[in-house]
Amino acid sequence: MEHSVILQLKNITKTYSNRSDNGQTLVLDDVSLTLEHGELLGLLGPSGCGKTTLLRIIAGFESISQGVVEIAGKVVCTNCDFIAAEKRNTGMVFQDYALFPHLTVAENIAFGLKNQVKKHSKGIFSSKKIVNDRIRQRVVDVLELVGLTGLQKRYPHQLSGGQQQRISLARALAPQPALILLDEPLSNLDVQVRHRLRAEIRAILKAAGTSAIFVTHDREEALAISDKIAVMRNGKLEQVGTPEEIYLNPQSRFVAEFVTQANFVPAKRENQVWITELGEVAIFNNATKTSDKEGDLMLRQEDILLAPDLSSNIVVVDRQFLGREYDYCVETGSGKRIHARTDLSNAISVGTKVKLTLKIASPRVFPISPNINNQSLVKV
Ligand code: ADP
Repeated sequence: MEHSVILQLKNITKTYSNRSDNGQTLVLDDVSLTLEHGELLGLLGPSGCGKTTLLRIIAGFESISQGVVEIAGKVVCTNCDFIAAEKRNTGMVFQDYALFPHLTVAENIAFGLKNQVKKHSKGIFSSKKIVNDRIRQRVVDVLELVGLTGLQKRYPHQLSGGQQQRISLARALAPQPALILLDEPLSNLDVQVRHRLRAEIRAILKAAGTSAIFVTHDREEALAISDKIAVMRNGKLEQVGTPEEIYLNPQSRFVAEFVTQANFVPAKRENQVWITELGEVAIFNNATKTSDKEGDLMLRQEDILLAPDLSSNIVVVDRQFLGREYDYCVETGSGKRIHARTDLSNAISVGTKVKLTLKIASPRVFPISPNINNQSLVKV
């Protein structure tokens, strides 16, 4: 029976013992998450926030301290029960592909299939020839799915990095598991292959109709591939939502900085206006609580317009040409640096004094938070 919920994580907590002081380090703190059938979930966060640990717990390579993991309606892990990785109906794709170097592409893909096909080939389907034909056909099918038809006889060293990763995906997909788990699948590839493969991996997983979770620290990758993104910080889920929700409506300043890469400008309120060193921003009722007296305005790089203004104390200190747009860095009178992305019609030289205006009417306001980059883990 097909379950609409493929994965359910309930209050997952994981601690590691420290050899040095006999204490415990909390690596995952009360993580709960649901993945629907056919969804692609990106686990996104900075290095050390617990993404890989969470993926390894789902895969069955790590135990948990508290909580419940359910895959396709079956409990596979609690703090006392543990179903082995090979019995969890998941497929794994690793950062370094992990293909067997001495096996051909076809043998690599068929590796996990043999037992499965034998198990399901009882009675009239039990002859060795029929089993082998079924395996051969499945290899052909998944090679077609990943766009590498005809490469059955090649060895991994005869393939490019991108092709090896697609074979690794084909191998994981071949037994038709309930869930595919991908651990930083693109991070070993050069930038151009990476960009192409983002779209391909999404298209392949969608064509296969499978559910998948992939770990990444690259926000663009997460935004491009995922149906849903879970942003993690210090072992906790900070926000879960569609890429658009996460980018356009970050629920915390951390998400706004990490995913949106927004600027933050201190502001003080005077009646219906925010006063900042960049100028005044009118307050619309729906954007600000009446009790807010000060805060940090979130200014997305693409929402800022620059125009030369000799009377301004804001100066362009850097301009980078990015092909389709410029990335400007301007410095305010107080020494604060702000990034703005503008189209190519707006070329302003380094050293020019500029004024800033906003394309949007009511920027978000976050509470003042001087120390958001503190990524240290919680000691318990
Ligand atoms: P991420 O994938 O987000 O970079 P990890 O899940 O790999 O983060 O690691 C989260 C934290 O758990 C890190 O601080 C890491 O050092 C710690 N950690 C991971 N594995 C172990 C382990 N086997 N023993 C102790 N600490 C670990």
